[in-house]
Amino acid sequence: MDKVIVVGGGLAGLRAVETLRGNGHEGALTLVSAERHPPYDRPPLSKAVLAGETDDTTVDADWDELRCELLLGERATGLRLEPVGGVVTSTAGDLPFDGLVIATGATPITLPGDGRQHVLRTIDDSRDLRSRLVPGARIVIVGAGWIGAEVATAAAKRGCSVTVVEAADTPLAAAIGAEVGAYTAPWYAEAGVELRTGVKVAEVRDGGLVLAGGARIDADEVVVGVGVRPELSWLEGSGLLLERGVVTDGSFRAYAGTEEPGSVRRDVVAVGDCASWWSARYGRRLLVEHWDVALNAPEVAAASLLGQDAVYDAVPYFWSEQFGRMVQYAGSHAAAERIVHRGDPSGRKWAVAWLSGDRLDAILTVDRPRDLVQARRLIAAGTPVDPAAIADPDVPVRQAVRG
Ligand SMILES: Cc1cc2nc3c(=O)[nH]c(=O)nc-3n(C[C@H](O)[C@H](O)[C@H](O)COP(=O)(O)OP(=O)(O)OC[C@H]3O[C@@H](n4cnc5c(N)ncnc54)[C@H](O)[C@@H]3O)c2cc1C
Repeated sequence: MDKVIVVGGGLAGLRAVETLRGNGHEGALTLVSAERHPPYDRPPLSKAVLAGETDDTTVDADWDELRCELLLGERATGLRLEPVGGVVTSTAGDLPFDGLVIATGATPITLPGDGRQHVLRTIDDSRDLRSRLVPGARIVIVGAGWIGAEVATAAAKRGCSVTVVEAADTPLAAAIGAEVGAYTAPWYAEAGVELRTGVKVAEVRDGGLVLAGGARIDADEVVVGVGVRPELSWLEGSGLLLERGVVTDGSFRAYAGTEEPGSVRRDVVAVGDCASWWSARYGRRLLVEHWDVALNAPEVAAASLLGQDAVYDAVPYFWSEQFGRMVQYAGSHAAAERIVHRGDPSGRKWAVAWLSGDRLDAILTVDRPRDLVQARRLIAAGTPVDPAAIADPDVPVRQAVRG
């Protein structure tokens, strides 16, 4: 390939550049990114950066050695596909390619209303919000998901008066289900954070929130953490199949028009938060908005762009640090039959496992990192487990196998 364009300078974009070179791409390579900053890690933005423990999360990369042209602060605006290759139109002009990596990530969803609302996606967002987390400031966070919980943790630590408003009846209901999400609710009060569940927000106005029904919650700052949307706007009308994410096969190759083997583009891959990829393991498409995918999946995307056989079939994994706890999750519990508790969820360290028969579908651990590592291996290998042993926190997970 003579010329590969990578659109999006997050972790997935950087890893695509590194792995293209690592997999033998000798042609020209250009990374176009809307942000002015070179690629940086986002997980610390809601943790160490907000807490004031670090200010720079740039990922080490030697751009000269990678022989990669960097177009920072430039945005792709459209895509014209030709039978082979095409042109990315951008604020830096037309960028012809014969290989394209789409890694434009995701954009936070905002709420109606003309009041100021903070989202947390970029290092600039994080630095701006941090400057407002001063002792006594009334911070209202909409959404008790991963980001909401982490922002609440940092804001409470900085002496703010923090309220979290959640539409569902428990935190994290969408991510891990209401039953398990409910176990995290007491953590808020413990940290001095008021958690108000079952509350729907109508709009953000200067000075706070207006709730459905008209009541108000006053705030100095409103932070919205209600999820993200894959960043696909520049791909509208390109002919690529877009649903929730760029639709790809298990090798991250995008489809032109329809999801049929004959429609797959061998010269266009999508990876990271913007890609909805086929998982043979789960027999459905997955869109996993987590760091581990952005780190590891580009290796497969780069290999398949270069015509090598590669399929991504990892077990999804993520973590969150909230209220002084390390929460980790591996697998997918979407089709699980039941939940097995491993330790007391009102205690300090515990886990829950999702099982179907003797198959371990997923695990969530709270300050039990060893359980996570061992369970992740069992899930990946499909090793049958003994549910009674899984339920015993004194039995190492790796020994809780059948036979
Ligand atoms: C605050 C925060 C905390 C997180 N914490 C965790 C955590 O604890 N654990 C975990 O597993 N995951 C966490 N994540 C998720 C993880 O960081 C993401 O999954 C990961 O960053 C996705 O990487 P990406 O490269 O696909 O997308 P992104 O990091 O979003 O990068 C996409 C890049 O493309 C650029 N771009 C977009 N559109 C265009 C365009 N048209 N032209 C050019 N450039 C464009 C964007 O500006 C951006 O720089 C967190 C995310 C955030 C925001």
